[in-house]
Amino acid sequence: MKKVSILHTGGTLSSKVDYKTGGVVAKYTDKDILSMFPELREIVKIKSRLIRNMSSDDMNFKHYNLLAKEIFKELKNSDGVIITHGTDTMHYSAAALSFILEGLDKPILLVGAQRSSDRGSSDAGLNLICAAQFIKNSDFFGVGICMHEGMSDENCLILPAVKTRKLHSSRRDAFKVVNDSAIARVNRYGKVEFLNYTKREKGKLELKLINEKLKVGLIKSRPNMFATELKIYEKYDGLILEGTGLGHFPITKIDNFTSENKRTFDEIKKITKKIPVVMTTQCLFGRVNMNVYSPGRELIKIGVLGNQLDMLPEVAYVKLAWLLSNHKKEVRELIGENLRGEINHRIKDEFL
Ligand code: GLU
Repeated sequence: MKKVSILHTGGTLSSKVDYKTGGVVAKYTDKDILSMFPELREIVKIKSRLIRNMSSDDMNFKHYNLLAKEIFKELKNSDGVIITHGTDTMHYSAAALSFILEGLDKPILLVGAQRSSDRGSSDAGLNLICAAQFIKNSDFFGVGICMHEGMSDENCLILPAVKTRKLHSSRRDAFKVVNDSAIARVNRYGKVEFLNYTKREKGKLELKLINEKLKVGLIKSRPNMFATELKIYEKYDGLILEGTGLGHFPITKIDNFTSENKRTFDEIKKITKKIPVVMTTQCLFGRVNMNVYSPGRELIKIGVLGNQLDMLPEVAYVKLAWLLSNHKKEVRELIGENLRGEINHRIKDEFL
């Protein structure tokens, strides 16, 4: 039997309704979860530990490092690791683990739930069972997310850690791949169907942690912006811009209503002189192309990075922090390099 470690961090999967407040709280321990889903022990040999019992909204870089260190320890004696995790920021954690665990040669699957485990409609059981079945029945290695494929309890998908985002606030199939496709489909009986998986060369596992003191910003462009909103980032170490469309910000003074835009441009220019600033798109699908319109070209000229990339804003955010921590001198070159599958230099026709 394959050996799998389950590390619990909390979220809805570990929660139940608190009848005093009526709200859902992270309560279950690792032991409770295993006793709720005894089938897991029939699929793989399980070792389980509680790392935290928290909502993923409260996580930060320190939790990513802690989790990566715990995974590193577990991998010495396991064939794979399942992380139970809150769904709200699961795609950030998945990206962080992908970057931190360089040369990973075993499967790490993040699993969450949209309905707490004490409810009949909970998706926790199927997501956990599918993750265990996938580790048992495949030779996949790397970081993936295992969640429901659709509304029914039939299949789960294994989703790529750096190309996936939570795109629905409540549905059980909330996680969708952006500009790419799922790695595999798996069911509770262990049927695995690979959909899009190119095996990388196996490396030597190395922990490349994120500097916990770093301050990286992520700001979304919108109409009626003020330059002062950006000013705070002068003191940060890096900044991700979530532009509209192809990668735009309100930076052009076109009439007497738009004087603020000139100030916004000057502020971005000031910041790019101090720290790396990377453009992404809030459209999510498609890529940034700052060559098409003149303001975009102005942004390239002042040093805004990210042109032609299809990196999700959240992934770019984690990647920038990781690069600043591990490759400080090469941030500008490496931000545009596909290190973990986060960039498609060619997007398949079906996503264009
Ligand atoms: N906000 C909580 C979290 O992300 C609960 C949501 C969930 O787990 O689905 O941990």
